[in-house]
Amino acid sequence: MSGPGRTPDAQALLDERLADHFHDECGVFGIAGHPEASRITYLGLYALQHRGQESAGIVSVKDGDPYVHRAMGLVADIFNEPLLDRLPGRSAIGHVRYSTAGGSQLRNAQPFCATTDAGPVAIAHNGNLVNALVIRRELEGRGAIFSTTADSEVIVQLLARSRERSLEERLIDALSRVKGAYSLVVLTRDELIAVRDPHGFRPLSLGRLGGAWVVASETCALDLIGASHERDIEPGEMAVIRRGRVRALRPFRRGAREHFCIFEYIYFARPDSNLNHHTVYSFRKELGRVLARECPVEADLVVPVLDSGNTAALGFAEESGIPYEQAMIRNHYVRRTFIEPAQAIRHFGVKVKHNAVPGILQGKRVVLVDDSIVRGTTLIKLVTLLRSAGAKEVHLRISSPPTIGPCHYGIDTPTREELIAHDHDVEEIRGIIGADSLGYLSLEGLRATASVLKRGFCDACFSDSYPVPVEEGEAQPQMSLFQTVEDEEE
Ligand code: AMP
Repeated sequence: MSGPGRTPDAQALLDERLADHFHDECGVFGIAGHPEASRITYLGLYALQHRGQESAGIVSVKDGDPYVHRAMGLVADIFNEPLLDRLPGRSAIGHVRYSTAGGSQLRNAQPFCATTDAGPVAIAHNGNLVNALVIRRELEGRGAIFSTTADSEVIVQLLARSRERSLEERLIDALSRVKGAYSLVVLTRDELIAVRDPHGFRPLSLGRLGGAWVVASETCALDLIGASHERDIEPGEMAVIRRGRVRALRPFRRGAREHFCIFEYIYFARPDSNLNHHTVYSFRKELGRVLARECPVEADLVVPVLDSGNTAALGFAEESGIPYEQAMIRNHYVRRTFIEPAQAIRHFGVKVKHNAVPGILQGKRVVLVDDSIVRGTTLIKLVTLLRSAGAKEVHLRISSPPTIGPCHYGIDTPTREELIAHDHDVEEIRGIIGADSLGYLSLEGLRATASVLKRGFCDACFSDSYPVPVEEGEAQPQMSLFQTVEDEEE
């Protein structure tokens, strides 16, 4: 269905521009029943900063009235004491978001807020919906006006239009229409609601802080605020927290298989987080061990790509008996844009972020370990850097299979055509990167490692087998509708 009165060209442009909703990476947090709810939320978001660095927001509720602040930037740069004082109340939710350039606008910063005839509601969403555009066009055809380009607004619009009475029932109604990945925290006047889609693509954990209940994308946020980890919200579960009690509902049709994102374990989640009763750290280390068994190599040193390859490199070193050495140091303060010198400096681009420790690499055969190769640009630079620091051989070992497909469920990956493994085999990739050898973990090795968790996984980016198909009209490369610049000054 087309939008109201749009020419085919305008519709195509809109489709193209709406595409940023495939590229959101996010973290969500919520707390109910704490006198310093917004401050705790701020701290929780701090621990989730790795899940999104472009915008952040907090909504709190006091005496039934909602308060909101959202801005572009890092959590620590956005919030300060006076601001947090102006987010009063005993419950709050928060969100951190990353999206590719087109979608990085304040308008898309979350939590989304809406005033409905059943009261105010704020929603923070992690994950991507695969039929958001289809629903959006349908709603627009009936006169709905969307104020963002994010897929999450579809949930808010459906909820506002639902004929059900309570916000809880409206939310169930809205979610029964959407497909894809969602871990949500929702704040109403008197409830905090945590929901995971029936496939359980993205994580969401429930914790306890004194008498307060806490929900967070990852348990590292619970650790930071001193909360206990009670359990994970189950796939398809809606936990309604009201007056200090948790009611666990199963409102969706049963039968969906679990598809937890395997890439959360490989790269995205923090190693100190516990997902599905298993620490990310131990999983990553095991991947390194399996990799060492599958792709052995004679070498003098195992060197990680910091920080993404750290833990797998430890596992590789332990299993192979080759010493682990942090032969490269990473500058953690690099922002996306930096001012380049007018005159060329050798290896400038790579040395901004990574530099080799002098002396360690001279004449050495190095195993360089990272978690994944996307476009290949990082490793092209790092192999050159290691060689110029004296490495005799550089052998690449990757603790996941070749990334052959984009993620439609909430990890930021470029289009399929931009993935180096999309149209190159391992030997070609080795040649492009300029390594002496290249070994990837096998899909079987990954699946066997994951099988000990006894959960269902999504590994579509490696297997090209997508558990929830993207609906027609949703898969275009994306940008945003209007380029708001004035908001970003805030
Ligand atoms: P590339 O240089 O394009 O091959 O990207 C590979 C590097 O990006 C590796 O060091 C990965 O750890 C990292 N990486 C993988 N997936 C993502 C992602 N979704 N967002 C940001 N970095 C990523």
